[in-house]
Amino acid sequence: MKIIDLLKSKKPVIAFEIFPPKPDVPLENILSSLEKFKALNPDYISVTYGAGGSQKGRTIEIASRAKKEYGIESMAHFTCVGHSYEEIDKMLDEMLDEGLENVLALRGDPPQNQPDFDFSKNIYRHASELIRHIRGKNNFCIAAAAYLEGHPECRLLKEDLLNLKLKVDEGTDFLLTQFFFDNRLFYDFLDKAESKGINCPIIPGIMPIFNSNIKVMTAKSGCSIPAKLVVMMDKYADNPEDLRKAGIEYAAEQIRDLIAYGAPGIHLYTMNRPKSTKEILVSAGLA
Ligand SMILES: Cc1cc2nc3c(=O)[nH]c(=O)nc-3n(C[C@H](O)[C@H](O)[C@H](O)COP(=O)(O)OP(=O)(O)OC[C@H]3O[C@@H](n4cnc5c(N)ncnc54)[C@H](O)[C@@H]3O)c2cc1C
Repeated sequence: MKIIDLLKSKKPVIAFEIFPPKPDVPLENILSSLEKFKALNPDYISVTYGAGGSQKGRTIEIASRAKKEYGIESMAHFTCVGHSYEEIDKMLDEMLDEGLENVLALRGDPPQNQPDFDFSKNIYRHASELIRHIRGKNNFCIAAAAYLEGHPECRLLKEDLLNLKLKVDEGTDFLLTQFFFDNRLFYDFLDKAESKGINCPIIPGIMPIFNSNIKVMTAKSGCSIPAKLVVMMDKYADNPEDLRKAGIEYAAEQIRDLIAYGAPGIHLYTMNRPKSTKEILVSAGLA
């Protein structure tokens, strides 16, 4: 089923983001997690695409098996960075062959150890060009990424918003946001997006804090950490289990507030952790 149709018929749509295991880890690990995720009744799962196309085959395989073997609707992430035309079309054809109807179309980050990578040498310089290609080629439901605090590369937030509008105009059905820890950012963003004529559903991304690795992730993604979260992380710095529990409560509180505000769905970055995901859903009143 196309997720855009789901969004028209159900609110909130609950999605779990998972990532493929490293190449030396057997696929069985994530498959057994899928069984546990299925018990939590997500509306769909989305499967990330390894940076620079690493483990690309695994993304499609997991998304396809989630759908066919576990009966969970799925969406494959796809980044075009470093791919040739032929590779891009081959990946899209493979998705279609596997019966996948939903794709998160991304430009992707510079390849590892190439921070100054020149995107003008890439087949597509921006996700909007990839989205145009996918829209012209077949009948996927297309999602794209949105950045409430601006993409780390953008010089001006208003330019980032105009670039987002371009992605929507090229055929994006719905947007998924980068994670954030202050819901006011999301609510402000909705107003700004609307003022630019971005009218498709915008689904907030929630990243639970499971440990202090979040500092590295926020540094990379350019997301801010509110003072109350800094206080929380300091308080439980020597107690990982209490930090995990506090992180679960923080995420659940964000979710409760977003749903009360009328968010069309929740995109939960599960970090492949079914147990913690369940705890969040229970606390948020969703399980
Ligand atoms: C929900 C979500 C899921 C993600 N999943 C993955 C994943 O599975 N695998 C992975 O490797 N990465 C993933 N990412 C990260 C993503 O690949 C990076 O953030 C990447 O750097 C940008 O990809 P994009 O599609 O947003 O790029 P774009 O939309 O192309 O934007 C990149 C930059 O270019 C600018 N830009 C866009 N269009 C134009 C234009 N026409 N002219 C000038 N500037 C322009 C934008 O303002 C922005 O600064 C995800 C991000 C999000 C939010």
